Amino acid sequence: MNHKFIDFKLNKEILKALNNLGYKNPSKVQEEVIPRLLNREDIVVKSKTGSGKTASFAIPICEKIDINNINVQALVVVPTRELALQVSEEISNIGRLKKIRCSAIFGKQPIKEQIASLKQRVHIVVATPGRIIDHIERKTINLDNLSYLIIDEADKMLNKGFIEQIDIIFKNSPNKKVIGLFSATIDKDIKYVCDKYMKNSSMVDIEDVEIINKKQIYEEIIKVEENDKYEILKKLIYLENPKSLMIFLNTRERVVKLYSQMKKDKFLVRELHGDMSQDKRIYVIKDFKEGKFNILVSSDVASRGIHIDDISLVINYDVPKDKENYVHRIGRTGRKDKFGKAITLVSNKDEKYINEIIDYIGYDIQEKEYIEENEVKKGKIKFEEYQRELLKNKKVRKPDTKIHSEITTLYLNAGKKKKIRVMDIVGAISNLDGIVGDDIGVIKVEDLCSYVDILNHKGEGILKKYKEISIKKK
Ligand code: AMP
Repeated sequence: MNHKFIDFKLNKEILKALNNLGYKNPSKVQEEVIPRLLNREDIVVKSKTGSGKTASFAIPICEKIDINNINVQALVVVPTRELALQVSEEISNIGRLKKIRCSAIFGKQPIKEQIASLKQRVHIVVATPGRIIDHIERKTINLDNLSYLIIDEADKMLNKGFIEQIDIIFKNSPNKKVIGLFSATIDKDIKYVCDKYMKNSSMVDIEDVEIINKKQIYEEIIKVEENDKYEILKKLIYLENPKSLMIFLNTRERVVKLYSQMKKDKFLVRELHGDMSQDKRIYVIKDFKEGKFNILVSSDVASRGIHIDDISLVINYDVPKDKENYVHRIGRTGRKDKFGKAITLVSNKDEKYINEIIDYIGYDIQEKEYIEENEVKKGKIKFEEYQRELLKNKKVRKPDTKIHSEITTLYLNAGKKKKIRVMDIVGAISNLDGIVGDDIGVIKVEDLCSYVDILNHKGEGILKKYKEISIKKK
């Protein structure tokens, strides 16, 4: 088929955003899904993370959003909070030039803040099932205008009362909506949802999925004794000298133990696992993305669906017992045209699992036979120097936020507490020299401050010309 994005007749703001994101051509799943969702067909998609599936629904949804309609027009239900943030980030990136507002709503966040955020103009909501049902029951979300309902990674929600939750969401949304269901496996529960709610759906099965950028990852295994793992790990770090490193272990307990060990040895390291509070996890991921530390020790919680880009090295300290997790873990590196490396430590008892993985991925993984001690010594000096510079904040990796160079986000030192509303900001900004309504993008008013996107490269000019802007005499 080989479509180009332009063939889908997308709005110019969406095409421009895709271009800014570096998406040159649609991936396989996007070729199949985009035209169907644009055409308002219900679909069931069997596909995996890494195939570009998020954008496959984000693009048509953003295309079809009517930005003048201030109600929620699309709801994406995802299994985890991390995924909610990830998906909403992708949607926001795609929709930002069209001024689409997208909110992530999930458990353990203060409900009051969410209610306030839902009261503002929100076009798209990405939510975990429990929390969205909470809002439905409190009547703090209105789904009457919903035209797209997407259920993402449905297979991950199956064991958590999925069917009842999905029933509630369907019952509380209008009949005419388009439904997209994405799942890595299609089993009886998924079939139940299809039979009950999606009578004329078509099935898209992207079997031989090309994981985007897969070829950019160089994979190795190294055979080790369990007791030698830590020493080998240190040597590998010095040898490889990664700018950023993610280390995966199979259990929370093992994450905590390795983290403490590395911390004692003065590595710039943090941990990430399911037992940490939601806020803490979000901050860790944010700090890692911003390069405030360079080693993240993690359980598989963080490997699914999370786009922590720009990681130079992944080390599997434990061989994952679930073969799919191997692909997810190593997928954290080698993204976006960058080369990455993934090394897996294999002890005797792991032989069985690594063989299963090799069968599953369908190619052999190179074995590292020995470690050159001289190189380790040289590397250690270099690595420690790099860590010192990171600590001094000299070499902080730039966060990957500047996707749209035509946008500048202004920070305003006043928010809801000072009775500032979106319209006040629009009024004040459009009074500035050279600014017209079309130059003002997404506006977020928080309790104590506000953010406003200035489009069309005009933000820099404002920053140069005005130190302060007064809004409602504030
Ligand atoms: P996903 O399967 O949604 O987790 O996407 C995998 C990765 O591919 C994400 O980092 C996306 O930003 C990226 N991506 C999605 N669509 C494209 C595309 N058409 N071209 C290049 N990269 C893409």
